[in-house]
Amino acid sequence: MVQINGNFKALSENYLFSEIAQKVTAYKANNPDADVISLGIGDVTEPLCESVIDAMHEAVDEMANRATFRGYAPACGYDFLKNAILENDYTSRGISLSSDEIFIGDGAKSSLGHFGDIFSVDNIVAISDPVYPVYIDANVMEGRAGWLLSNGRWSNIIYLECPPEKDFAAQIPERRADIIYLCSPNNPTGSVFSRQQLARWVEYAKKQKSIILFDAAYEAFISDPAIPRSIYEIEGAKEVAAEFRSFSKTAGFTGVRCGYSIVPKELVAYDGNGMAVSLNALWRRHQSAKFNGTGYIIQRAAQAVYSEEGKQQTAKTIAYYMNNAKTILKGLKYAGFKAYGGINAPYIWLETPNNMTSWAFFDKLLNECQIVGTPGIGFGPSGEGYFRLTAFAKAENVEKAIERIKKLI
Ligand code: PLP
Repeated sequence: MVQINGNFKALSENYLFSEIAQKVTAYKANNPDADVISLGIGDVTEPLCESVIDAMHEAVDEMANRATFRGYAPACGYDFLKNAILENDYTSRGISLSSDEIFIGDGAKSSLGHFGDIFSVDNIVAISDPVYPVYIDANVMEGRAGWLLSNGRWSNIIYLECPPEKDFAAQIPERRADIIYLCSPNNPTGSVFSRQQLARWVEYAKKQKSIILFDAAYEAFISDPAIPRSIYEIEGAKEVAAEFRSFSKTAGFTGVRCGYSIVPKELVAYDGNGMAVSLNALWRRHQSAKFNGTGYIIQRAAQAVYSEEGKQQTAKTIAYYMNNAKTILKGLKYAGFKAYGGINAPYIWLETPNNMTSWAFFDKLLNECQIVGTPGIGFGPSGEGYFRLTAFAKAENVEKAIERIKKLI
């Protein structure tokens, strides 16, 4: 008899976005003339910039010619893209890395999701609450979460508190954790780690011989120069952290798929005999066994993000989204909401009024304002009483949505 990976049975169904879709479909069916505005899903709305499109066209032409055609890409990425990343995202910020510490992938979700393959299932994982749910699901699938799910929390996971009075920054736990997932700028709360906060995490990881998996998928949205964009801006972080980045939100690649992970050569974990093993070597082995490289056309498109025109064009789109974020934040505050994020991140996290549950507020916003957002409970039990709005929308819709919210209150 064929047996399944039993961990999948423990995995709870992710009903959040299907429940949202069902509610929106029902509302539209009952209100066919309603102008429903979505500020719910974290997907981009602006098209790819001209430089990226030109590079893709050029690469398509190369693929059409026998002399320039390319087959399998190198499993860990082409040098032209790795060098562009190195130069623009790291060397220029005073971080020294080498190109064989960069692994090009098809997005941050799959790299973060698969990275756990190189660790023992016995490791204790620490994850913030609320959180981007991928970190939890991946660990449930791999058997690290335990079997008991109680009040939305898995028995073997250490949940990191993210209190509002600490700007939702994940707090260092009292118990020892082996693998720690940190995300800055944060989805869903829109918070960012200061240099000091991140330095404390690096210090903790060094002391505990732990590893930080640092999700920097939204680093391009940081406007405050004092906020670290990379964990490697913190001294000693190369010994304790892998970093994950994405072109999805930076350059509108959600439907194109390209991202990268950084695994420094200094980064080690230990075998059963306590011998240090290079995670760079293990991740390279993993990628060459399970991944056949991101397509040439896509990697050329990503390289174009780093051309002078590409930088200007992507910066313009990010400014467009961040202007939306500003409008949302200002409007919510004017309407009397307690709202967070939206300054160095494209997400705005708000407290629901009058202690409403996050689903009750979802219904109110949909029924009375025709606005779709995301209930905070969908990101973990500590998300109850909160609500997420995204800046990924057309500016005119954002303006309209905020006017409606102001009238509601
Ligand atoms: N990390 C965070 C925090 C995200 O919010 C997302 C996407 O929403 C991702 C990673 C995944 O990005 P990608 O499209 O590169 O897989």
